[in-house]
Amino acid sequence: MTNKPSSLRIIICGAGIAGLAAAAALATHHQVIVLERKEELTEVSYAINLKPNAAHAAYGVVGLDPSKVRGLPCREIIERDAANGDIKMHKPVDAPADFGGPWYFCQRTELHAELLATAKARGAKVILGTEIEDVNATHGVVLIKGGDAMVADMVLIADGISSRLRKRVLQQETDYRWDSDQVAFRAFVPAERFRDQPELKWLAEQKSGGLYVWAAQKQRVVVYPCPDYVNLVAIVDKAHLQRQSGGSDLGRESNTETADAMRSQFADFDSTVKKLLDKVPHASLWPLFDVSCLPYYERERALLIGDAAHATLPHQGQGASLAFEDAEGLAYLFCNGSVTPHDVSRVLKKFTELRRARVHMIQHFSRVMAKPASYEKGEKLDALRFAAQTLTFKSIAELETSTAPHD
Ligand SMILES: Cc1cc2nc3c(=O)[nH]c(=O)nc-3n(C[C@H](O)[C@H](O)[C@H](O)COP(=O)(O)OP(=O)(O)OC[C@H]3O[C@@H](n4cnc5c(N)ncnc54)[C@H](O)[C@@H]3O)c2cc1C
Repeated sequence: MTNKPSSLRIIICGAGIAGLAAAAALATHHQVIVLERKEELTEVSYAINLKPNAAHAAYGVVGLDPSKVRGLPCREIIERDAANGDIKMHKPVDAPADFGGPWYFCQRTELHAELLATAKARGAKVILGTEIEDVNATHGVVLIKGGDAMVADMVLIADGISSRLRKRVLQQETDYRWDSDQVAFRAFVPAERFRDQPELKWLAEQKSGGLYVWAAQKQRVVVYPCPDYVNLVAIVDKAHLQRQSGGSDLGRESNTETADAMRSQFADFDSTVKKLLDKVPHASLWPLFDVSCLPYYERERALLIGDAAHATLPHQGQGASLAFEDAEGLAYLFCNGSVTPHDVSRVLKKFTELRRARVHMIQHFSRVMAKPASYEKGEKLDALRFAAQTLTFKSIAELETSTAPHD
């Protein structure tokens, strides 16, 4: 690792959004190496909500250049009745005023590529084709497949929702991931495809972004335009899908068979939805996983971040947003003043203390949002109250304003 005065040696396991955002945020002050098992870095071609809490960090401490990650700003949220298209809620959005920061719809591939470029430009070293087999949290040792080992002052575990390394922090073999009873059809359609359809032409015009929802009791279609494309997510109960599809083997591969299955699932939705779905050439089907709320994220020199720490159901679009908050928290704790190798485990404990309440709240809200639209046990709030809770920017510092970073 190249030397930076008073810097820590940091190894990050995984070059997804969480690993690269943390790398970019920390590389200004520390010697950062990111180890990624894939030979080539790729991202799935869908949109991503860069919500105000994420955008604040992404364009702040993470250092993304807004001119290189194109984004359509969110200007409205419209929720309609699935059967007849009647508007149930229309909220014009002024994200900086409403939620404390901008809210953009971006392309995942552009975002990920720019995170990589930013992390490298700031001095992080990203090594591909390197699978980590194990981590020793006490000594900061990372064991690499093939027999090599590396030592660091701090190890950030960002190996995703199916994390194999999580157990080294939690010291249990438990699989914290569980399959929810819902699945999501996903499609990413060139915006131009909607231009010849009068009711849908606005999607091709790309003037601004917004969140457009058609909600039934147990099914929901969510549409949002991003630069050049329209992103579509259609959520359905797994049991309902199996009944309808006769158990056919649909999967993550994007194809016409899955697009047809999606159309048949939503055949009784409003005519605009049907026209919209008719324009979808290919779709894929994703199981929706959740991760239990973890009691802590750190052990000695190791810290879980991103989906490895707190994957959420997608109903708030907060998975990556939480990863950006992690990066911001790390920058706050490790780039303000000097932290020595001796301080690492104490400061990581502080990270857990500062993050846990907010992360658990967002995980909880995403589960509540997954419940049927008519759920009336007093827990389900309307979309705007959820948005205010999950999007209102609370910096890591604000969670515990009286605490100095290294106390
Ligand atoms: C289609 C889709 C749309 C989404 N939309 C949104 C959205 O709008 N807003 C939002 O906030 N969130 C969204 N999410 C969620 C968000 O994308 C995830 O929360 C986020 O990408 C998680 O990033 P991560 O880096 O933690 O994990 P991952 O992206 O899973 O990255 C983990 C990385 O670690 C590597 N790795 C794993 N094991 C090892 C190992 N042993 N050694 C070395 N490397 C390893 C993997 O190869 C991978 O590159 C969406 C997710 C999907 C799938």
